[in-house]
Amino acid sequence: MAAQATGRRRQRKTRIVATLGPATSSERMIRDLFHAGVDVFRLNMSHGGHSDKESMIAAIRKVEAEEMRPIAILVDLQGPKLRVGTFAGGRASLRQGTAFRLDLSEAPGDDTRVGLPHREIFDALTPGTHILLDDGKIRLAVETVSADAAGCRVEVGGILSDRKGVNVPNAVLPLAALTEKDKRDLAFALKAGADWIALSFVQRPDDVAEARKLVAGKAAVMAKIEKPAAVGELDAILELADGVMVARGDLGVEEPLENVPVIQKHIIGAARAAGKPVVVATQMLESMIQAPSPTRAEVSDVATAVMDGADAVMLSAESAVGEFPVEAVRVMDRVAERVEREPGYLGAGQTRINPNATAEDAITAAARQVAATVGAQAIVTFTTSGTTALRAARERPAAPILTLTPRLKVARRLSIVWGLHTVKTRDVVSFEDMVGKAKRMALRHAMARGGDRIVVTAGVPFGTPGATNVLHIAWVQGNELEAVGS
Ligand code: PGA
Ligand code: MN
Repeated sequence: MAAQATGRRRQRKTRIVATLGPATSSERMIRDLFHAGVDVFRLNMSHGGHSDKESMIAAIRKVEAEEMRPIAILVDLQGPKLRVGTFAGGRASLRQGTAFRLDLSEAPGDDTRVGLPHREIFDALTPGTHILLDDGKIRLAVETVSADAAGCRVEVGGILSDRKGVNVPNAVLPLAALTEKDKRDLAFALKAGADWIALSFVQRPDDVAEARKLVAGKAAVMAKIEKPAAVGELDAILELADGVMVARGDLGVEEPLENVPVIQKHIIGAARAAGKPVVVATQMLESMIQAPSPTRAEVSDVATAVMDGADAVMLSAESAVGEFPVEAVRVMDRVAERVEREPGYLGAGQTRINPNATAEDAITAAARQVAATVGAQAIVTFTTSGTTALRAARERPAAPILTLTPRLKVARRLSIVWGLHTVKTRDVVSFEDMVGKAKRMALRHAMARGGDRIVVTAGVPFGTPGATNVLHIAWVQGNELEAVGS
């Protein structure tokens, strides 16, 4: 990325994540999606192989270079998703009130039994446990369990076909955080330069810790909250993860649906307090898979996530396999922009978060306040690791935040975070250099004009990662762009 980067700036503060798939794998589609407003591209390892992901990644990086804007690539690992085996004839009919067995046999299933090829699950089942099949459409109650079979009663019946998903909502299953497939996919993703790794079906804080070890700092780690057990351990998970996703698809299978909206608010609140980005995902504009415009309820759903203070809203099937991916991004863009324009936006639902007793929090909280008091047009934040930028965003200031970092990797990662416009730039070496660069970059990125004030935060001594300890109010004269260098 050129140091002279002047790529476009999003007016909206909420970010948009779009999942790529067969409908959007071409470079042209990826460019169109970026122009429509996508900040982060998600690659879902549950579908397709490595070679299609490789070409998508190459296309994203090409668009990134053309646009001179850092773009995050989020690789979503499938995780330990349970599936039944296959049926003779491809399907079976489970009738309410009848007996149905899950077992370790590889023989094709029928109307009375099917294989569940996960030995460790049977130990975790007890009589009374509910098992959900095919996204919760079919419900079984366990009656008897042995080491290799579970005798169940069909409580809600239906047609079950090959390899449908299995959820066991109220049990913490003895499953590894990452399957062998996940480990292969992770190695691929890190080598390909993924910026975020999303972990599916996180059950306990240890799952995040284990994945973190394998990721070894090469990417940021996002915990998908889609199990009741993870909701219960949210604070400990938030401490270990770099961000979280409200994964409403599986969450809505594992929890009664009416619990999902309040859990969403709870997760957003907790992530906001922790200063870690939170993504709201799944079925946000579901009807747009087939229709060029959304339902009123979907628009309201996106608006609610924005009002609650989510960092990002996400498209799944809408952009991966839908007929109107670009239109769906435009809808999210317009809805977010409209909500953010509402005068009460930063007050409503966006609870003021108390700063921690650190220099960084003192400075970023003060920056918000000073910017509001002097009517500054932008807050310019110098950050090496990205931490100060996260704390600045956590303050949810009214003024946009211009983040300057010497690390491209950090710039990319931060593109999922609320309100940050990040630019990769050389390190500053002196106070004068810092002020000069802040003014030039604010002008170049149209975040300030001559006569405007900006608030600048940085860490002294310069060039050493560490605590932010400087807050400076600068007056932009307008002729700074003539100065040499960047
Ligand atoms: P998935 O995760 O699309 O990988 O299942 C999101 C969700 O469950 O909501
Ligand atoms: Mn899921």
